[in-house]
Amino acid sequence: MSLEERIQQVNQKIEDACRRSNRHRDDVNVIAVTKYVSLETTGSVLDHGLEHIGENRWQDAQAKWEAFGQQGTWHFIGHLQTNKVKDVIGKFRYIHSLDRLSLAKELDKKAASLGIQVETFLQVNISGEESKYGLQPEQASSFLRDIRSFNNLKVVGLMTMAPHEEDPELTRPVFRGLRELRDQLNGQALTAEPLTELSMGMSNDFEVAIEEGATWVRLGSILVGKEGGSRWA
Ligand SMILES: *Cc1c(COP(=O)(O)O)cnc(C)c1O
Repeated sequence: MSLEERIQQVNQKIEDACRRSNRHRDDVNVIAVTKYVSLETTGSVLDHGLEHIGENRWQDAQAKWEAFGQQGTWHFIGHLQTNKVKDVIGKFRYIHSLDRLSLAKELDKKAASLGIQVETFLQVNISGEESKYGLQPEQASSFLRDIRSFNNLKVVGLMTMAPHEEDPELTRPVFRGLRELRDQLNGQALTAEPLTELSMGMSNDFEVAIEEGATWVRLGSILVGKEGGSRWA
């Protein structure tokens, strides 16, 4: 299938999921995850009008960012080591994996030194799987309180990853849990502005995530494809 066909097919699925859940199509943003594909394919993704690019490792993203960083909006979606903050700051508009105080401190410090604000998602481990990064849900409110004074770091919402399930319907409680946590945190008014964003849903489960309120879906294989020879393939 061509990239164009995949984009059309994904768009149709997003529209259908929005219709089923009575949501506006414009409230769902797509991040094209290019980690499985080459520099050339990443360029092609941008040429096809996809504006948001997601990468999960700076080592893999660097060449792509150097080629196309000024086109599109870049999202860092993978686990971020504190010593890598200096590489990604100012390049990725959004960091989806804020999961600890030491990382928040470093992001705030480096953003301050550039005179910018970095937008972040709190990554929360809703499923409780040990292999997953993220704060425990019950830690989220004290975490937000702890970073309140970090003027160069803004939390725009929450991010989670669901376990891989053959039947995507089984992921629904995870996505619902993230939405309920966001609403509960907003009720406590811990942030200057309410948390509006939910980054949830990947190739296997994005339709369920949209039905449960995703505002950002992160799509790799189904949208951009996977290329042979990659260590991810
Ligand atoms: C790789 C990755 C994705 C996309 O994965 P697909 O299943 O191929 O859509 C989304 N989010 C994160 C954090 C990833 O690492």
